[in-house]
Amino acid sequence: MNLILFGPPAAGKGTQAKRLVEEYGYVQLSTGDMLRAARASGSELGDRVAKIMDEGGLVSDEIVIDLIDDQLEQNKGAAGFIFDGFPRTLGQAKALDDLLKSRGTQVDRVIRLVVDEDQLMARVTKRFNEQGRKDDNPATFAARLEKYNQDTAPLLPFYAERGILREVDGMASIEAVKEGVEKALKETA
Ligand code: AMP
Repeated sequence: MNLILFGPPAAGKGTQAKRLVEEYGYVQLSTGDMLRAARASGSELGDRVAKIMDEGGLVSDEIVIDLIDDQLEQNKGAAGFIFDGFPRTLGQAKALDDLLKSRGTQVDRVIRLVVDEDQLMARVTKRFNEQGRKDDNPATFAARLEKYNQDTAPLLPFYAERGILREVDGMASIEAVKEGVEKALKETA
């Protein structure tokens, strides 16, 4: 099962991905986590992406596609992958199709967590206070949201056309969202 968890920043993709990892043994591939790890390690890649991330912009397709390619290679026997925060552009979506196709597999399901953008701000302020993620500050978060609406939301028709897109209410409780995600996973395409 290859699943894309789709939605704006702070929609709860990471939380749901982690639950699916625990329950089904799928491998979570979060490009945001990978980029933060690169920064924390002080690598050259980390230095290259730092400014863009802190400003709420998108790093280049080439960089994130390479990260995903590496991880697919390193986790060859995985029961499935959960893509979290990737793809974010049409170029990334097309590259993901190619990467999976070359490994004899495909995107099976895209689950969109539908959220109220105004309420997201409250959620992010809480996360900012708890985790201190620099890019969760209100100005940068607004930029990230705008990027999502401009570059990422247009991917929805790309997946809807294939009949693999499902929507789940992301404003419900974590438990209720989890149930919605599991139901959406089990439905046949
Ligand atoms: P996230 O934790 O997924 O919200 O990602 C944090 C930041 O990392 C984003 O605001 C972007 O700057 C960068 N990033 C993560 N994933 C991608 C991606 N697929 N494409 C471009 N930039 C990304």
